[in-house]
Amino acid sequence: MKEVTILGAGYAGLMALKTLQKKAGDFHITLVDQNDYHYEATYLHEVAAGTQPKEKICYPIKDVVNEKVTTFIQDRVEKIDADKKEVTLKNGSPIHYDYLIVSLGFRSETFGIEGAEENALEMVTIDSANKIHEHILASMAKYKQTKDKKYLKLVVCGAGFTGIELVGSLVEARPRYAKLAGVDPKEIEIFCVEAAPTILPMFNDDLTNYCLDHLAKWDVKLMTGKAIKAIKPETVVYQDGKDETMGELEAATIIWTTGVSGSTVIGESGFEERRGRVMVNADLTDPNHNDVYLIGDVSAVMDKESNRPYPTTAQIALKMGTHAAKNVLNQLNGQATQEFTFKSQGSVASIGNTHAFGMVGNTGIKGYPASFVKKMIENKSLMETGGFKEVFAKGRFDLYH
Ligand SMILES: Cc1cc2nc3c(=O)[nH]c(=O)nc-3n(C[C@H](O)[C@H](O)[C@H](O)COP(=O)(O)OP(=O)(O)OC[C@H]3O[C@@H](n4cnc5c(N)ncnc54)[C@H](O)[C@@H]3O)c2cc1C
Repeated sequence: MKEVTILGAGYAGLMALKTLQKKAGDFHITLVDQNDYHYEATYLHEVAAGTQPKEKICYPIKDVVNEKVTTFIQDRVEKIDADKKEVTLKNGSPIHYDYLIVSLGFRSETFGIEGAEENALEMVTIDSANKIHEHILASMAKYKQTKDKKYLKLVVCGAGFTGIELVGSLVEARPRYAKLAGVDPKEIEIFCVEAAPTILPMFNDDLTNYCLDHLAKWDVKLMTGKAIKAIKPETVVYQDGKDETMGELEAATIIWTTGVSGSTVIGESGFEERRGRVMVNADLTDPNHNDVYLIGDVSAVMDKESNRPYPTTAQIALKMGTHAAKNVLNQLNGQATQEFTFKSQGSVASIGNTHAFGMVGNTGIKGYPASFVKKMIENKSLMETGGFKEVFAKGRFDLYH
């Protein structure tokens, strides 16, 4: 019996699993993840701010595993030897495969900025998002004891999609933080430091201005044109783009959202990669191994229109999962693999529970309708990976609970 192994039970990995399980035949599937739960990474900022409990965005992996055809192993993948067709795990015995689907996702990218890894909080897993929330709560308690204003300051490093979504959730949670600290919400200062002179270049002026106007109204201190040079304990060191002078911003909470790379396993396994991502063949296989698929945030796929790789998103990860599984089925049946094609449906960024903005197809949307669309997009992807059961279990039809 042929062995198909999937590494990572995120968006991409679970879509691959579901597609393969539907066509269960003369092959066995092994799924490996470091956790026994799947989490919706697109909601991590809400766990970090404490506007959603982690239970709301996680569900047990066993809920989607058909034990008749799939073995789930909870372990950490350490290395892949694609020549030997072997995967090394942290605790268990090595796994041998005939076909491998690698979907190990993203990690925080610090671009070598001094002190960022040690002194800023990353937001890439349920545990790291939860740690941010606990850190904020502890800071509010410390303010009560010390009256030191640094405990009321929250700094988000990076004003990309993720950073802006996090800022929106922090604004929403601000009254709760203020209550814990015993201060007026206005005293909780939220900063967002960004090297570029403007934010969110993928959106048109109307949508960007919608976002900027709200940030201004909510008294978010958006510091654009400030390149972060180092993170010292409780201090962001930045260079001012205009006059090149150095500035320092002291805050007890510093959160790093300047960018992500693919899993470290990719580089450590000797794949030809850049920042943990492999430029895959048109059928999503590794250029050097036609039995290894790299999908989701560990891969880069060229968008022929822009001549640049597509941005790594849950949207493309879901599609790649289905496509890679279909290609494995083709290979198992002795048929040719198919080229992966992708047309982005657009993207919508939330800023808090009831505000959002973005593009759906070629149409710009903003405000309450956009926040409704955003929630429906999230529910659709939960439906795709977890099915009706998880959408109901998480109470996700109650959009504005
Ligand atoms: C705050 C935030 C908001 C976002 N918003 C959007 C959005 O609105 N729209 C959108 O399309 N995208 C969004 N994204 C991007 C999106 O979340 C990612 O592109 C997507 O999660 C990638 O899916 P994936 O399946 O490749 O990896 P992941 O979702 O990262 O899953 C990887 C899986 O691999 C497991 N794993 C990792 N390393 C190991 C290991 N060594 N051993 C075993 N298991 C391991 C993990 O536990 C996880 O289950 C957002 C990201 C963030 C952080």
